[in-house]
Amino acid sequence: MSDCNTRLAQGGIAAAIGLGDSPEKHFRDTIKAGAGLCDEVAVRIMVEEAPARIADLVSLGVEFDTVDGQVALALEAAHSMPRILHAGGDATGARIEEALSRMVLESSIEIEEESLATEVVVDNGTAVGLKVLNSGSNTNKEIAARYIILATGGAGRLYRLTTNPEVATGDGVALAFNAGARITDVEFFQFHPTALCYKDEPPFLISEAVRGEGAILLNSHKERFMPKYAHEAELAPRDIVARAIVSEMVKTGRGEVYLDMRHMAPQRTTSRFPQISRFCLQKGLDITRELIPVAPAAHYMVGGVMTSYRGETDIKNLFAAGEVACTGVHGANRLASNSLMEVLVFSRRIIEHTLGNKNRQDPQMSRKLHPYSLRELPCGKKDIIEPDISQLQNLMWNKAGIIRSRKGLIEARKVLAGWQGAVKRPQSRKEHEKRNLLTVARLLVEAAFIRQESRGAHFCLDYPEAREEWRKHIVLSKE
Ligand SMILES: Cc1cc2nc3c(=O)[nH]c(=O)nc-3n(C[C@H](O)[C@H](O)[C@H](O)COP(=O)(O)OP(=O)(O)OC[C@H]3O[C@@H](n4cnc5c(N)ncnc54)[C@H](O)[C@@H]3O)c2cc1C
Repeated sequence: MSDCNTRLAQGGIAAAIGLGDSPEKHFRDTIKAGAGLCDEVAVRIMVEEAPARIADLVSLGVEFDTVDGQVALALEAAHSMPRILHAGGDATGARIEEALSRMVLESSIEIEEESLATEVVVDNGTAVGLKVLNSGSNTNKEIAARYIILATGGAGRLYRLTTNPEVATGDGVALAFNAGARITDVEFFQFHPTALCYKDEPPFLISEAVRGEGAILLNSHKERFMPKYAHEAELAPRDIVARAIVSEMVKTGRGEVYLDMRHMAPQRTTSRFPQISRFCLQKGLDITRELIPVAPAAHYMVGGVMTSYRGETDIKNLFAAGEVACTGVHGANRLASNSLMEVLVFSRRIIEHTLGNKNRQDPQMSRKLHPYSLRELPCGKKDIIEPDISQLQNLMWNKAGIIRSRKGLIEARKVLAGWQGAVKRPQSRKEHEKRNLLTVARLLVEAAFIRQESRGAHFCLDYPEAREEWRKHIVLSKE
């Protein structure tokens, strides 16, 4: 249960509860970050229901940080005002995960640890069960279900460098796609600009909130560079900061840049960011006195399984919530700290709907769609050797990462097609996860190839500008 993206969330969760803030302002910031592709109805639902979901968390025992008795609100990139609630300083996700897990463990809900959903069983267009592999005992079974909610999280493991844990292998997207559901907006994959890049440590997130509190970025010549790239400087949207960092790395020929928070009072740094400062200190880096070497890392899957405003997928009784779902809230680029809130708002709507509140009048989805059938997606020759996961991650990093090109995407399509033809029928958990990553990689590369522009978290050198005719959602399905 605790092996998930939620537990790692540091910065916090966005809700318009502060003095002078309003759902309307939160709406405007979200729409702006989404680069023309947000579903306005979904965004409005999220920003309006957000304060009530914060109240739910408080009643479940999550203690948000306070200053002088008032909830402390932090500023993060692309928010027009301080709006981010946090808990335990920078341990927001862990506090939420612990409170919810405690409640589940105390309830009559049955948990099957070490069990991997491997297939959605569909009968006549209706989801009726799940095939499950228990990776501890290596046994398979089928579980019948009236309703199924996919809540399998993201797919950061598609890439060589990621802030996501090992479980983030895009399983839910692959399961839903194989079951016949539509997948949308998968070309938009958000890279976090600042993951710790220190010795041989795996990338550890240095939250956006650190820049919100005044940290600045320096290149390897120790020069500040962000004001050259955006008037918001260090607080520009994530895609702009990530690309600026890559440009500086290319210019200076060095694979890292630095976050500098040495000008901040040490006591303030360690109390506001206890987890980050402790983690770095354990590795031998004192962030109150030293520069923090950072580099971008794959962070958040913006697209996913296409859902309605109450979490329905195309398959009856199959729902999706959280990072695996695409509610349309994030458009082409997620606004920081909106994802935890999206999980809460839309998963609650699923529960209300399945419990019988079926009369709520939600408008029809009005997104402009660009449908693509992948029935004929070619498989390569059988004589190709099955890849290991690191080959897949390197391919995705090099050809479908922060800066893409048409040539690179064409190469990736070809290699992935070959690999997909070579993959054996999965037996173990690792084999299932590899097959799922391969499916999601093909969907992502296909969508990135189709989109002939740059927008939000998708940047292609051959089409560096956004184009009005592409202000639509690429939707992939088997049919
Ligand atoms: C380092 C980091 C920092 C972040 N900081 C923030 C932040 O400050 N604010 C914010 O809003 N967002 C943040 N995010 C994003 C946010 O944490 C996630 O988008 C969100 O928590 C996703 O929740 P989820 O429930 O969809 O998925 P998860 O919390 O990842 O849960 C998915 C669960 O599904 C399980 N699972 C996966 N596949 C299967 C399968 N086939 N069968 C059975 N179970 C399966 C996994 O083991 C896992 O337990 C951050 C993410 C990371 C990685």
